[in-house]
Formats: sequence, structure tokens, C-alpha cells
Amino acid sequence: MDERHAVSRRRFVGGVATAMGALGLKPSVDLWAQGGAQGGAQGGQGASADSARTRRGRTTPEEYDAFAKLANNENPYGPPDSVLEAMTKAFKYANRYGYPDGNITEEIAKHHGVKSENILLGAGSGEILDVVGLTFLEGANKKVVGVEPSYSQVYQQATSIKAAAITIPLLQDYRQDIPAMIRATKTHYRDVGFIYLCNPNNPTGRTVSKKEVKQLLDGIPEDIPVLIDEAYHHFVEDRDYATSIPYVLEERPVIVTRTFSKISALAGMRLGYAVAPRELIQRMRPHVTGTVNAVVKWGGVAALKDVESQTKVRRVTLELRKKTTSELQGLGFSVIPSEANFFMVHIRRPVQPVIEEFRKKGVLVGRPFPPMLEHLRVSVGSPDEMDRFSKAFKEIVPSTKASTESAKHHH
Ligand code: PLP
Repeated sequence: MDERHAVSRRRFVGGVATAMGALGLKPSVDLWAQGGAQGGAQGGQGASADSARTRRGRTTPEEYDAFAKLANNENPYGPPDSVLEAMTKAFKYANRYGYPDGNITEEIAKHHGVKSENILLGAGSGEILDVVGLTFLEGANKKVVGVEPSYSQVYQQATSIKAAAITIPLLQDYRQDIPAMIRATKTHYRDVGFIYLCNPNNPTGRTVSKKEVKQLLDGIPEDIPVLIDEAYHHFVEDRDYATSIPYVLEERPVIVTRTFSKISALAGMRLGYAVAPRELIQRMRPHVTGTVNAVVKWGGVAALKDVESQTKVRRVTLELRKKTTSELQGLGFSVIPSEANFFMVHIRRPVQPVIEEFRKKGVLVGRPFPPMLEHLRVSVGSPDEMDRFSKAFKEIVPSTKASTESAKHHH
């Protein structure tokens, strides 16, 4: 367990980035990668690695387009026609404040079998994660409990508002250590503002089972809110996993977040939401900025209803993930079993220079996730992007198997 206090890694990283910017140097690591300045209060919503660089004039739109983009767990296919049509129609409200919004809140509530008072919209679920920090940590001198590595925006935001994170290492098999989370929460009871549970976890892709979620909720003091981040819910196949939304109906202090960025391909449009008991939503509401735009509200309504497109994205993504990971396993590398639209491969050497090699070959892959510094996180992109990844991987990370085989050919 390690406690990280106020002098934030964010500020440190920001400092390095600014300094390098001033010198006109390119940072060698993807400092703005997903989990960095993306999302809410401090970073400018959706300012991912590549958009940040574009703004700084380091990458032209043409260069950006040419990359295989496997760094941010995005959906390479873009929104389906049904969503594009709904958004196109909604453009006529671009000049309005008080416009019909397609009843997005009611539609989401209906979709989950809860009431509108249980829903809070955010400009991406990243905004909601920040709002949870602002509501339950800020001013109260409280801490967030969660595993590391996980979606680090939550811990970075905690440090940026001078709160702190109590982080717990993953188990040997890279799953989340629920008993340790319970112990840490009990030990630091007075200091804990909320618990963060990312399910499936980013960057590992591993799930927390339905039983373990129950174990956690039953094992902690009952007034501690648990933020359960289900950004990758739609990709899960594991039968032991279940959404935690039913706990909201039981009035347990659970905040479940969902996003339209992944399965619905609306990352650049910024739409996500929380499902939580009314009392928690009311406490959080003053902290949202209300920056969800007219166009994406209509897009979100259409996306919720287009189950066919979701099923298609899920199917092709899982097929491609399995194809790519079996290929890597065939080369002799172990891959962490993932339930999401990304995976981690153990490359048995420091990951940072390898990430740079990929970039030189036009392939953007995930940033390093300390302390897992020999694991590469790869998002599942389009078939073409995955071909480019596989080809580059064989060139950059030669396997022992491959080299003995090619040695055989030479003799
Ligand atoms: N939660 C997790 C686990 C993520 O990986 C991401 C983005 O990659 C987010 C939340 C934030 O996504 P968004 O703000 O686009 O909804």
C-alpha cells in the first residue's frame, strides 16, 4: 500500500511537459495519454495525447490520421449511421440554449430501469469521475482507495485538489485485491472519501466478479461511497461479472459510471453519466459544469437504441482481440486475459523505448502503467490497424521462438 500526497504527479508531469514545450522538444513519452490530462476539471475534456499535440502544432491532422491509433481504447469504427443522423438533425439547435434534448436523461433512466433522479449527465464519464472527487474528497481532507494501476485520472484528480490516494497493488494474476481494499478502508475509515473500483479494470482488462463486488460492499462501513467505473461494460464476456446498477435500486451508496465513448464511438463528442441513489446525485449535481452539448444528447439517445450496432462493434472487437492475442501467444509472449477492447502483453523488457519504436512505425500504443513497466497496453483498433501492429511488433520485439526459427532457415 502506498500513500501519495498532495505534491501531485500531475503537476510534476505538467512541469516537464511545459518545459519541453518551451524548448521545442518532443516529449519522448506520451504524457497526455489517456488517463493523463483527459477529462474534466483540470485538463480540458477529451484532451488526449494526440489532440494535445495537434494543438501544440507537433502533429498535423494528416499525420494524426495516418497513425494506427491503439493508445486510447477508442472505437475505430465511428458512430453508426443512426447516431450520425440524429446528431446531424440536432445541429439546428446549435444556436440555442433551451432546446429539446431528446429526453436523454429519461431515456437513460428507462434503459436501466431507474428514475431520472438517479441519473447525472457528464461531458464524458471522465467529468463524473472528477465530480465524485470534488464531492467526496475536496475540502473534507479525504482520500480515495483503489488499486494501482487503474484509470489514473481518479488518483491524479485527487492529488490536484490536494486530497490523496491510498493505492493497493494488484494480485499476482493482475486482478484487484478486494480483501486488501476492505482492510485499507477499515484502517483509514475516517480518512476515506470513496472507493474506486474500475470494472473491467483499465489497463489490465480484468474483471471483478459479481461475488467480489458484493464482498466489497458488504465488507466496508456502509456510509462509504463506492465509485464503480463500467466504461468497458459492453465488451465483457465473463459470466461471473455483472453490472452494479442493481445496487442503486437497493439504495446502496454506489455510483456506477458509463460512457458513450467506447461502445458508441462518441469519445470526441463527450457524453457519459452516473447512475446512483438520489441523495448522492443531489450532492454531486452542483459540481457538474453542464457542458454536454445539444448534438451529442441526441446522438446518445440514438446510440442507446441502436443495439444492433453495439453488438456488431462488440463482435468484431472481441474477434480481433482474440486473433491478435493468440498470435502474440504463438510468438511466446504472455497476455493478460482481458474482458475489454484492449489488452496487455508482457514484452519482457522495458516498455518505454518500445512505445517509441512503435510510434516511429506509425503505431500509437498505450503509455507505461507503473509499476507494470514491462507490459504494453494495446487497444483493439480496426483490422488494418491490428495488422500494422502485428507487423511492427514482430520487427520491434523479436521473440525467442521467432529467432530460433529464422536461425533454422539460415542453416
Ligand atoms: N473510465 C475509464 C476506465 C476509461 O478508460 C476512460 C477513458 O478511457 C474513462 C473513464 C473516461 O472516458 P470518457 O470521459 O470518454 O467517458
